[in-house]
Amino acid sequence: MDPGPDSTTRQGRWWKIIHLILTFGMEPPGPRAEADPLRRGRRRVSTLLVGIPLSAVLFYVDVHLPISLAGGSPYVVLVLLGLLSQSRGAVVALAGLASLLTILGHLFTPPVVPAHFGLINRLLALITIWLIAVLSLVHLNAQLRARDHLEWMANYDGLTGIHNRRFVMDQMERLVKMAQRYGQPFAVLMLDVDHFKRVNDRRGHVVGDEVLRMVCAVSRRCIRDVDILGRYGGEEFLVLLPNTDREEARMVAERIRHAVRAARAPVPGDPLRVTVSLGVSVYGAETTHAQALVAAADAALYRAKRGGRNRVCVASTADRALKSQAAVG
Ligand code: GH3
Ligand code: MG
Ligand code: MG
Repeated sequence: MDPGPDSTTRQGRWWKIIHLILTFGMEPPGPRAEADPLRRGRRRVSTLLVGIPLSAVLFYVDVHLPISLAGGSPYVVLVLLGLLSQSRGAVVALAGLASLLTILGHLFTPPVVPAHFGLINRLLALITIWLIAVLSLVHLNAQLRARDHLEWMANYDGLTGIHNRRFVMDQMERLVKMAQRYGQPFAVLMLDVDHFKRVNDRRGHVVGDEVLRMVCAVSRRCIRDVDILGRYGGEEFLVLLPNTDREEARMVAERIRHAVRAARAPVPGDPLRVTVSLGVSVYGAETTHAQALVAAADAALYRAKRGGRNRVCVASTADRALKSQAAVG
């Protein structure tokens, strides 16, 4: 017999509930779960699904068994449940619930002889509950900090503090998809510090690093919050400019070039100025995927270098031919 669509939905719902309970406290792989409201919500539901019946069972046993439940200390299990759910809020809420049940348990269980034994047991249970709650919170905080650090390392560059290549390329793929779907234009700038090897050779790598940080800070100030600045490698950087056409992109590139030329790196000894060259490419007929956009910006950058450096070039079809000729030659 056909169980009908209703029964399938019901089955699905039960399966979801069973799945929630079975996967309780388990962290699915992926970005930080705290930042994902869906996963956070799932964890809260799981905690409720397990926590409420567990509290009821513990309380029933505490009140109905002829012996007191060891002064209420088994309620500590509820705090551990909070720890397992990896939620600081759940730890505090469940510690509060465990304390309340410990006190109620004392009021509803038959009196222990001598009377102060029961009271001391319950007080010890309360102290244990809150001690474990505090330790759980310390542990969860450390875990969150470690997760934040890992996430930072996965997306940012350690030297300059801007995004890393992997992040920028992922964002570029996203912008390509947006451009394909909604027709939004976007541009890519590739920036390279001119004669940077000389800086390293003459002033040392520590000063070179400081120059890279300065170039990033200045470039960051020249772009909008929605733009993405990342280190492509060495002394080369990428800037993604959403919703930006060719002319606007050229203007932004010029703004960065002027700003870097005017800035001075905060280094000991003689003041140090550097210039940068930039290649600009725009999502369009020939550049419909991320690698092609980078290649076009790189080819335009190559022309800027050949043209004498400290300049901006916008990608053209001739650029790539020029670059491949140079590679062959
Ligand atoms: P051009 O104007 O043609 O770009 O010349 P350039 O000297 O800047 O280019 P080249 O590619 O010859 O040199 C880049 C140098 O950047 C070489 C490398 O040692 C240096 N470099 C790469 N990454 C870092 C870094 O993180 N810190 C420092 N200090 N130097 C770096
Ligand atoms: Mg370079
Ligand atoms: Mg360079």
